Amino acid sequence: MGFDALLGNDRLKQNLTGALARGRIAHFYLISGPAGSGKRTLARLLAAAILCTEQGKPCCQCAACKKVLSNVHPDLITVDDTDHVNLPVEVVRNARADMYIRPNEAEHKIYLFPRAQNMRVEAQNALLKILEEPPSYGVFILLTDNPQAMLPTVRSRCTELAMTALPEHILTAALKQAYPQADAERLSGAVCRSGGYLGQAMQIMEEAEDASEVTVRFLESYIRADALALLQVLSNMEKWKREQLIQELQRWLQVISNALAARNGIAPTQLMAAQLSTARSAADLMEAIRVLKKAILYAQGNVSGGAICGWLQWQLR
Ligand SMILES: [Zn+2]
Repeated sequence: MGFDALLGNDRLKQNLTGALARGRIAHFYLISGPAGSGKRTLARLLAAAILCTEQGKPCCQCAACKKVLSNVHPDLITVDDTDHVNLPVEVVRNARADMYIRPNEAEHKIYLFPRAQNMRVEAQNALLKILEEPPSYGVFILLTDNPQAMLPTVRSRCTELAMTALPEHILTAALKQAYPQADAERLSGAVCRSGGYLGQAMQIMEEAEDASEVTVRFLESYIRADALALLQVLSNMEKWKREQLIQELQRWLQVISNALAARNGIAPTQLMAAQLSTARSAADLMEAIRVLKKAILYAQGNVSGGAICGWLQWQLR
């Protein structure tokens, strides 16, 4: 079994397998990579490998592995508090106090920090105290999508495992398996926009399921500033009923507003908005919001769909 369940990342998997076979377990691992890059999968497999009692770690068959994979191993502790955006310092201090209690049944005791990017300096300093004096059985696995936000003193003590993007053929095959009904065009669109990360590709597939085809096509053309694609989207809408047009424009407005909020540091709720926030400037987004609001007003008034779509195409191109 080993780390097969994690797609791609071959070198990282080889290095880890080799180190574990030689009994080399670090006290601190920092798993870094963007959202959807497999950090949690790797963390789970690494914890299983450390606690596994058989050969070919993680064997994924022994009692210890099974407990880790179903998240009930008593020596694997998740350090988080999802009620708070930032990990409160007390949570880290509690983990530190708990660390001095010996493992329940394994030779190691693992603390998993799924959101190390949400640790302020105070919490990181509390963590640093642990990093300076870990008990021999203690292992810490920190997950972050922003390794630069870690204090250099924390980061330098960690063995960093950086997730890499998947090759296109591996990503496409995995996505096909997850969405056997999806057509080739949708799959390749999601692969293209995912940056090579399966989690992101799957999120794009899910969002596309929610959003109308038209919303996705509009946002794609707007992200690329592709005037021709924009023209095609809008000209198809000219004959739409007033209500349908308003509803569609409101959806666009909502995603673009979300993207603008993302530029101001508020975590975007949609991946589309996240991509939009990096593809277009704040001024562009504000202008698009102004234009869309006006178009919605026109549509609510007496202006024809054709005129509105033509005007939008001119304003947004
Ligand atoms: Zn095992």
